[in-house]
Amino acid sequence: MPCHPSSAYPSGSPEHFAALSDELSAQGIDLVRVLWSDLHGVARGKEIHVSELSHGAGHGLSFCQAVMVTDLGGNPLDVPESSGSGWPDAHARIDPGTLAIPGHAPATAYLLADITATTHDHALLHLDPRRLLRNQTERLARRGLHAVAAPELEFYLLAPDAAAPHGWRQYSEHDTAGYVVGSSYDPDALLPLLIRECHALGLRVQSGNQEFSGGQFEINHVHGPALDAADRAFLFKYAVKEIAARRGLRATFMGKPFQEKSGSGHHVHLSLTDADGANLFADPAAEDGVSVLGKAFLAGVLEHAPALTALLNPTVNAYKRLAAADSLAPTTANWGYDNRTAYVRIPPDRGPGTRIEVRVGDGAGNTYLVIAALLAAGLDGIERDLVPPHSVTEEPCLGGAPLPSSLGGALSALEEDKVLGDAIGRRFTEVFVALKRQELARFERAVTDWEFHEYSRML
Ligand code: GLU
Ligand code: MG
Repeated sequence: MPCHPSSAYPSGSPEHFAALSDELSAQGIDLVRVLWSDLHGVARGKEIHVSELSHGAGHGLSFCQAVMVTDLGGNPLDVPESSGSGWPDAHARIDPGTLAIPGHAPATAYLLADITATTHDHALLHLDPRRLLRNQTERLARRGLHAVAAPELEFYLLAPDAAAPHGWRQYSEHDTAGYVVGSSYDPDALLPLLIRECHALGLRVQSGNQEFSGGQFEINHVHGPALDAADRAFLFKYAVKEIAARRGLRATFMGKPFQEKSGSGHHVHLSLTDADGANLFADPAAEDGVSVLGKAFLAGVLEHAPALTALLNPTVNAYKRLAAADSLAPTTANWGYDNRTAYVRIPPDRGPGTRIEVRVGDGAGNTYLVIAALLAAGLDGIERDLVPPHSVTEEPCLGGAPLPSSLGGALSALEEDKVLGDAIGRRFTEVFVALKRQELARFERAVTDWEFHEYSRML
């Protein structure tokens, strides 16, 4: 994220916010949209007039903490963070280093916030995804390790159509097997628009293209420090949804919106550097150019893969993407060199570009939590000097432990993996599992289109 330039004052001080307020006003910006991530990765926020920005300097903007323990249907858990103790406050404390000016929201600036709870010392909330990721980068930093990440996000753009199931159809209906750009498959030039707008926001998107299915796109992000990469991915998803909504369209990052069409992945590239930025996954002396440290990190990710699934594939829908034939998404925890059917691919770049790519996740994953969980798993591999099993070469790759095939199985795996759960955060893990079990219970009560179609005529 671009850093706010006028930092003659201590970051976050009242003087800093006053200076920021003056600068934004001088640019014709009169509204600030303060955004933070809930557990689902959905952007929650408040809008404030720029003249009130200095209020960001104290404990931040108050809001009801229950929004951090609420499912996507709007149902809060009955826990101390909500009804269990009188619906207490939380506070969004603005991080002035996250200023971004959107082209798509006139006279508005975006700022991200960290979430504190209402305690006497305004402790950072143990359910703040941004804080949970920072916890992991700090654990690594204490060992002299610095996490670098680059997300790839796939998504569909949908157009309203009363005749289509659910009222939405693919924005472009031509399936292409991917890597096409231009007007034939993107008649309203939305991909160039998204790339330009995201660039203007400082999101450092690298490239984009249409994916396999009509209306499905992928936009890749330039790698950066893990928290910065997650901030950019979070704002990217928000911006894409906003830009689409302003045109009467819908953007969705859900893993498998259409049964017969390609799923949408959220691949994550990861590496570790030293304090000077030297890539520690690289070892030119190793036969494959990958260091022992990189392999230990990879082994940790594979060992915790069943539990990771709950965070990387966090919906009932996600498992339909994984189960689909030719999905280029894995069903077992394995790794391979430049093999897109493996759970972890080691792309061919070496030296400074040496990295792993975790391919299982879909776009419904919360990037903060996805990267936090992968770093916690990789660090466990490093701490225990784990060595990965042999790489797989066959296609599709079926070697390795089977992944959970349903959200329920994935949540059980996360509950059983005490090492990973404790490393990410015990209270977070309890709440996340409870929230997702509530979602699952609602799904299990729902009568689906499939059931009606399958049973109603003959039975
Ligand atoms: N769409 C595929 C997925 O769901 C990935 C295709 C690709 O490798 O870009 O993961
Ligand atoms: Mg792709």
